[in-house]
Amino acid sequence: MDHFNYHGGELWAEDVPLARIAAEVGTPVYVYSAATLTRHFGLFRQALDWTEHLVCFAVKANSNLAVLKLLGDLGAGMDVVSGGEYARARAAGVPGERIVFSGVGKTLAEMRQAIEGGIRQVNIESEPEMRALSDLAAGMGAEVPVAIRVNPDVDAKTHEKIATGKSENKFGIPIAKARQVYAEAASLPGLRVVGVDVHIGSQLTDLEPYRAAYAKVAELTRALRADGHVISRLDLGGGLGIPYRRDNNAPPLPIEYGQVIRETVGDLGCEIEIEPGRNIVGNAGVLLSRVIWLKEGEGRDFLIVDAAMNDLLRPAMYGAHHDIVPVVEPELGAALRPVDVVGPVCESGDTFQKAAELPPLGAGDLVAFRSAGAYGAVMASEYNSRPLVPEVLVRGDQFAVIRARPTFEEMLARDSIPEWL
Ligand SMILES: *Cc1c(COP(=O)(O)O)cnc(C)c1O
Repeated sequence: MDHFNYHGGELWAEDVPLARIAAEVGTPVYVYSAATLTRHFGLFRQALDWTEHLVCFAVKANSNLAVLKLLGDLGAGMDVVSGGEYARARAAGVPGERIVFSGVGKTLAEMRQAIEGGIRQVNIESEPEMRALSDLAAGMGAEVPVAIRVNPDVDAKTHEKIATGKSENKFGIPIAKARQVYAEAASLPGLRVVGVDVHIGSQLTDLEPYRAAYAKVAELTRALRADGHVISRLDLGGGLGIPYRRDNNAPPLPIEYGQVIRETVGDLGCEIEIEPGRNIVGNAGVLLSRVIWLKEGEGRDFLIVDAAMNDLLRPAMYGAHHDIVPVVEPELGAALRPVDVVGPVCESGDTFQKAAELPPLGAGDLVAFRSAGAYGAVMASEYNSRPLVPEVLVRGDQFAVIRARPTFEEMLARDSIPEWL
């Protein structure tokens, strides 16, 4: 459920007509609903209310400071994968004790930043990283709480670019080798082993891969405890999918996911951390765009909109689908016709949807790309020198620009021409 609905024949975000935002801020623009963010975060908390837990929002899904502040104020922790994301979480007011540092290639500078700024836990992804973190922390006189990310070799049954839990993927330490790596971790200075970490992929629409992975984590936890390690936390990753098509079978609900966690690891007495990103913010955002032209081609028509692949990369990158809906509600029984919805970028890959069934639309009409709150704005670029897409947050009947569209001057000011040229 989200808060983008038609009222009186027009699409609104909560109590604000999207047309008003388009008129005041311009298009393309991402629009997020605070009520939807709040609701989705609450569903995960509720799913784990049977145990001590921390829901760590995966910052990479949407790293706008206002989004992080909203979630942080609700009590969310943050899962960060870079120094930049760490800086964002801190700037949004989230204390280090609620920040988990994940990622397969943390640099020494990033590890130092986290140790200096305070960190709840570093999720170690490789032995070289473990040894480097130990040296660094010991040299700084610190002791860093760590979990080791294990790769359970489970097929998440998702898109190959976002599957992370198979042994062929670059992530984590093979679970068969985990006891040996934990033994070394326990012997190293500067590290304090606190838990086990796993994350098998994104946009999962089936709970069985989770069940398989978490069963392996439970078995490993028992073995590690038998080896003498104190395992008090399990970080079970993120990845729960969202419905990208309205007419589709919906993926499992957070409450059902929480039940799988309970059934697989609930008896271990561990604090549970999860790292949902997409499921919290995906359906809390739309990309609002205006039609530039309807171009009638041979055998097919093109609806050329002012959003492009640089603003919303998922269709070009993953062949992803976003429902595209007109902002003016079509009359009941209005005739639909197929159009290819495309952006202005000079690549045929800049196609959002082929043969989208839409009512007649023309220059100046508004459309919304649904489910665009996650991996939308964060993946945007200035390709084709299109200024970075702005973002707006709605709460009730108020809205604010939470990232402004740069002017051409601002965009150009980041370049410089060397004196010797
Ligand atoms: C990407 C990622 C997540 C979030 O995945 P979602 O599908 O957005 O829930 C969580 N944890 C880690 C380590 C990740 O890399």
